[in-house]
Amino acid sequence: MKTGLERQRWLQLLAELYEQTGHPRGELKICTSCAEAPCEVGPEQVTLLPFEDEFIQSRLAAEGRSVSLAEVQAIAGCEHCPFFVSRRCSIHPHRPIDCRTYPLVPTFAAKQEFEFTVSGVCPLRAGVDRPFIQLMMDVWKKLLPLLSAQWKGGYAARQPSDKLEKLVNLP
Ligand code: SF4
Repeated sequence: MKTGLERQRWLQLLAELYEQTGHPRGELKICTSCAEAPCEVGPEQVTLLPFEDEFIQSRLAAEGRSVSLAEVQAIAGCEHCPFFVSRRCSIHPHRPIDCRTYPLVPTFAAKQEFEFTVSGVCPLRAGVDRPFIQLMMDVWKKLLPLLSAQWKGGYAARQPSDKLEKLVNLP
């Protein structure tokens, strides 16, 4: 059962990570080259972190945008996401950490370890650079101690493992 303390901890960490991965730090230059920016398409799913639904809802409310928790919880791969409007992310500054991490996909090992694979669906995946990977490494290292085995298992189950590739040939 989630406690108030746990909730507070998560909300603080999310605020820190959204700041750390805000524009332009958390954005790959290659993404602006993708004419229609339809990332997270195909079989991929977006998984929200604990309390990330209410965190995003409160950020949008602070901008005067009223959305329900159910709408935020319906965030999925872009093509199935309620916030994918005119082939753009309409909540870009408030998008989830999982969207910010794309096209990297963490795969979890035992204990507090993980490694990144890259989505084989992203047409520009070869342009993923080291600074972006390092930034996201830092983010997921901060997340890992708070993630339950159940959350990690659920995340892994939503990934199309046959579409994930090793990170190679980095610039
Ligand atoms: S929140 Fe934005 S980036 Fe994430 S799946 Fe929805 S439209 Fe795509």
